[in-house]
Amino acid sequence: MLAPVWENRSVSDLLNAPFLASDTASDLFSEPKPSPASLLLMGKGIDLASERGVECDGALPRTSPRDIVERARAARAALGERAFILGHHYQRDEVIALADVTGDSFKLAREAAARPEAEFILFCGVHFMAESADILTSDFQKVILPDLAAGCSMADMANIEQVEAAWDDLIAAGIAEDTIPVTYMNSTAAIKAFTGRHGGTVCTSSNAEVALRWAFDQVGGVEGRGKVLFLPDQHLGRNTAALRLGISLDECVVYNPYRPNGGLTPEELKNARMILWRGHCSVHGRFSLRNVEEIRAKIPGVTVISHPECKHEVIAASDMVGSTEYIIKALEAAEPGSDWAIGTELNLVRRLAQEHPDKNVHYLDSTVCFCSTMNRIDLPHLTWAMEQILAGEVPNQITVDEDDARWARSALDQMLALPGL
Ligand code: SF4
Repeated sequence: MLAPVWENRSVSDLLNAPFLASDTASDLFSEPKPSPASLLLMGKGIDLASERGVECDGALPRTSPRDIVERARAARAALGERAFILGHHYQRDEVIALADVTGDSFKLAREAAARPEAEFILFCGVHFMAESADILTSDFQKVILPDLAAGCSMADMANIEQVEAAWDDLIAAGIAEDTIPVTYMNSTAAIKAFTGRHGGTVCTSSNAEVALRWAFDQVGGVEGRGKVLFLPDQHLGRNTAALRLGISLDECVVYNPYRPNGGLTPEELKNARMILWRGHCSVHGRFSLRNVEEIRAKIPGVTVISHPECKHEVIAASDMVGSTEYIIKALEAAEPGSDWAIGTELNLVRRLAQEHPDKNVHYLDSTVCFCSTMNRIDLPHLTWAMEQILAGEVPNQITVDEDDARWARSALDQMLALPGL
């Protein structure tokens, strides 16, 4: 098998499932039906076990589908340059249509920082992204998440208490001094701050290789005996270590925060090079090797392109691997008539199919899966947030406490100092 292409360098089925029609219309017609569970999902109540752990009143706009678009446009126009709207690539089309800029989490945080004149940053993404924007913007700017229930299941898989306990295990095993923590952007501000306090860095799906090489250089180089504690996505850590740095899978261990000592013996910790946190993305983790095999059988010559949050066997069987920005550029550069099977979130894949009618774009799974938390942000929530601001309120502001913000910024600054960004 040929090695897949990972971004601009070298790595190694999609059923022809029709894309679902947008669920926007039904969302717009539905009225909230409060119950304790649904109110929590809508943002009312406190879920301290999750990364959001915050409370809002659960108020939703009682809007008519006949005027919601006009209301949204009117509110956007009235806010003018006081507001800047960021739309993550995985957002619904109705939200993207109102976004001033679209991008992945890192690009959006930088875009927010580059708009110091905007008093309100409306972040149409998930909670950890809004935290990063708050860290990188000035005190004058207020970052708004239109629905506080828009969290990230991956970020929720590592909380700061668990990570502090894991570090204690590394200290007890005598390896903490030889270990650098590296956290993916998709983590809470508290965990970014943890990496800053311990001399580590943050990485994105685009620069994970550079960040890991830098981290190993702090403890003797990739060929040395130093270690990296990689949070919270085991797949991005494993794929980058094995396919880009040449570290063997045997030297990658998975730390399970729900088991004593992570489920590892002190010897296993000592022998490891990559200590991978037991976290994953609930969307990208769905893709399987069988999906790849089925699409190749069904569409000979299809190019399989996957996001590095997918499982190792999916990445190893893909033709190309890269971040959402990389996938978008690959489709832009593709030959007319070419076949593409894409392993990333469905809203983006659908949009790519619409934008490239001259290419055959398929979804790398037989079952449809949106990022359900990202999809919490919809036109009613965004409109409500804008109208609240116009009424003099500051709805759903996301703030990071000063000490965490300082250390998280230190880890982010370290990332910005890495080559290639
Ligand atoms: S796609 Fe995965 S990593 Fe991204 S926000 Fe959704 S759950 Fe989190």
